[in-house]
Amino acid sequence: MRRVFHVDVNSAFLSWSALERLKADPDGIDLRTIPSAVGGDVETRHGVITAKSIPAKAFHVETGEPVVKALAKCPDLVLVKSDFGAYRRYSSELMDFLRTYTPYVEQASIDEAYLDVSEIENAGVPLADEIRNRVKEELKFTVNVGISVNKFLAKTASDFSKPDKVHTLYPEEIPVKLWPMPIGKLHGCGAATAGKLIGSGINTIGDAAHAELSILQSLLGKKAGIYIYERANGRDDSAVQYEEREVKSYSNEVTTAEDVTASNYESYAVPILKKLCEKVAGRLRKDGVCGSTVSVIVKTAGFRRHTRQMTLKNSTNDAGEIFAGSKKLMKELLFSGEGLFAKGEALRLIGVGISNLDDGQNRQMDFSDWIREKKQQEKRHKLDEMMSAVREKYGENALRKGR
Ligand SMILES: [Mg+2]
Repeated sequence: MRRVFHVDVNSAFLSWSALERLKADPDGIDLRTIPSAVGGDVETRHGVITAKSIPAKAFHVETGEPVVKALAKCPDLVLVKSDFGAYRRYSSELMDFLRTYTPYVEQASIDEAYLDVSEIENAGVPLADEIRNRVKEELKFTVNVGISVNKFLAKTASDFSKPDKVHTLYPEEIPVKLWPMPIGKLHGCGAATAGKLIGSGINTIGDAAHAELSILQSLLGKKAGIYIYERANGRDDSAVQYEEREVKSYSNEVTTAEDVTASNYESYAVPILKKLCEKVAGRLRKDGVCGSTVSVIVKTAGFRRHTRQMTLKNSTNDAGEIFAGSKKLMKELLFSGEGLFAKGEALRLIGVGISNLDDGQNRQMDFSDWIREKKQQEKRHKLDEMMSAVREKYGENALRKGR
């Protein structure tokens, strides 16, 4: 089943400007808590509003309206000028954070991204809540997350009500959540298109969903007609256009069916840990890389993440070595005096990761590696000799090495 999240920063420019101010003056006022807006020239009061705080919304200050008009509605509005350098920085922090969940991240604008989370098991509200909470705690601003089976529905969902919320819009929820919305709210339906549709009595998204495609096409043209028809019915097969990036780490985690405690750790969690190590090692070998930093991740019943990591002397892609390291780290994290089990915590998720990657060439070989390498070299050498003998006898095309 395809799963897409749409993550959208709430009042992005305003929140990020507020953070910049707090950085410079930690005791200063948080712009998010007072009527404030970003936009225009602060001194001359020209230009338009590009973002506003929630308290400013109560005064009906709107994005895109002239600063003068906004000030007429809300004379105490605090105006700040935009700071794109800072916005880009917060934006890339967010994208990097999202990429720790999946490489399939499409940055749709400076403050929004689509995540294809189909490969993450049980990717639903709890995961979206975790992302939302961690952004708030770690990056200090809030986001909305929309969940569905495609980009269009996920984006529509993230826009439902703000701030700091998770919404779903699954196909079975379309009649209740999507169809009553005014047609002009359909993402990708511009004002001109909406005008034409409303002129023909198509007022809601549901009206468009139930209209004949041919009628929509005669009103809007072939391409726009099918676009509105498909989206109104919740269909969008466009892919999340992620950027190929150099992989910096490999990890695998799993939500456990039972809570893990000190009493079932050995019998229940250790075999899971072993399997995770085998999976990670398999992926490393498939890609021909080794890593020297081993980390373990656990999540407690309260959905708090805890991690421990250690760096090995030599990089590895051997499941046994990764497993040995992971067990050691888990012991520290769970069973030490300050460990999670000592505090009476239970675990809901365990994971293993490998980072600090290299191609394995710099490994200090031990003696058995050396013997193995020598033997392989000899084998290759013998094979090459054999092949050249055959070629000499039967001609150049007689033999090719199989792959
Ligand atoms: Mg936004």
